[in-house]
Amino acid sequence: MTDQAHGQATKEAGIAGPRTAEHKKWAAQRIQQLLLAAPHLEEHYKHARQVIRAFRRPAFYEVSTRCNLKCEGCYYFEDGKTAKSRPMSSEEEWKRFYSAESARGVSMAYFVGAEPALEPKRLMAAAPFFPYGNIGTNGTIRIPREVPYRIGVSVWAGDDSTDRLLRGGSVFRKALEIYKGDRRAIMLFTLSRKTIDHIPKMTQACRDHGLPLTFNIYSPTTSFLNKLRENRPHDRDFFRFSTHSDNPLLSAEDLNRIRHLISEQMDAYPETVIYDHHYNRLMSAPQPPHEVDRQTGIAESCGSRIVEPMRYYGADLQQKAVKCCTPDVDCRSCRLYSGGWSSRFVPSATDLATIASFEAWLKTMRTLGRIFLLPREDGCISPAKPLSAAENLPEFAGVD
Ligand code: SF4
Ligand code: SF4
Repeated sequence: MTDQAHGQATKEAGIAGPRTAEHKKWAAQRIQQLLLAAPHLEEHYKHARQVIRAFRRPAFYEVSTRCNLKCEGCYYFEDGKTAKSRPMSSEEEWKRFYSAESARGVSMAYFVGAEPALEPKRLMAAAPFFPYGNIGTNGTIRIPREVPYRIGVSVWAGDDSTDRLLRGGSVFRKALEIYKGDRRAIMLFTLSRKTIDHIPKMTQACRDHGLPLTFNIYSPTTSFLNKLRENRPHDRDFFRFSTHSDNPLLSAEDLNRIRHLISEQMDAYPETVIYDHHYNRLMSAPQPPHEVDRQTGIAESCGSRIVEPMRYYGADLQQKAVKCCTPDVDCRSCRLYSGGWSSRFVPSATDLATIASFEAWLKTMRTLGRIFLLPREDGCISPAKPLSAAENLPEFAGVD
């Protein structure tokens, strides 16, 4: 497919199916038709449903309000939308809170921060309560072995000087060493203009350390964009070097290069690179992947939107009304992996147009499971505890 044709196809496809009950009902019926026409896809669909069910009641827990890095355009501290809650200190209070959340039927707990690894006791306290969990960490502090959840380890560069520039310190080697061979970990490479050429060497480094690799695409916060636009002076925190002409933002040409390089590495090292060709095309298209409401500026169909029954709790254990777990990120240019993958749970009309497009969506679900869920040696999706309360809840993430 030419790049122009690709851009057009992506525009027509969109990234998210509408999250309305009506669309979900239609999608469920359409899937049954497709399965009748292609019964060999039954097994794949069964697996996709297993993946989707793990996310049937997700919740976000901000376990830490501190971080030891200074990433340029930080998602958390910029604008302070998620940083104002005063953390509670008692472990018992966290346990009581998790217990109530478990009773509410939370199936998937996302542990976020600033840096969750700075609060290991809060992570360990969660283990008896949630069947599935996912921790987003910067990889500089080892998360105790007792924590039975998937760990997404963010890396931003594959050489020391660029890492220092982007994060205020060179930390990627430490992250690779800490999580070497740890089956809970997946390296999450946030690609920016400065690191496109690092894709092959990061793949190699992950292979050498027995770690899978996936990708995130740098997405600016509105605070960061304002600073660039207003030509604000640099500070010593999260706006240290960027200018109009020199910053981590990606052009259409950069995205094109990303697409080709990722695709190449996926084909060469399928055991290491956990990604999906269709998703790669969607996220690297010249036009942003999410449809945005013109009045609010919010991507209403984004799968990461915090809408009931999905909830977000600050470190003071109070529920927060934020649009998603990265509320200061600008939806108009957002290509974050969280919003990207979660928007694929509900298949769009284009995903269900033909047997081939349905098969591509099933593959995307399989990859999503490999990225976000703790793998078991037999390849099954392993909950840390039985689904219990979550089992009978209505489907939230996808179609039932
Ligand atoms: S983006 Fe960087 S500085 Fe900000 S919370 Fe995450 S790891 Fe810390
Ligand atoms: S900023 Fe949040 S709501 Fe907006 S598109 Fe990104 S993940 Fe979705």
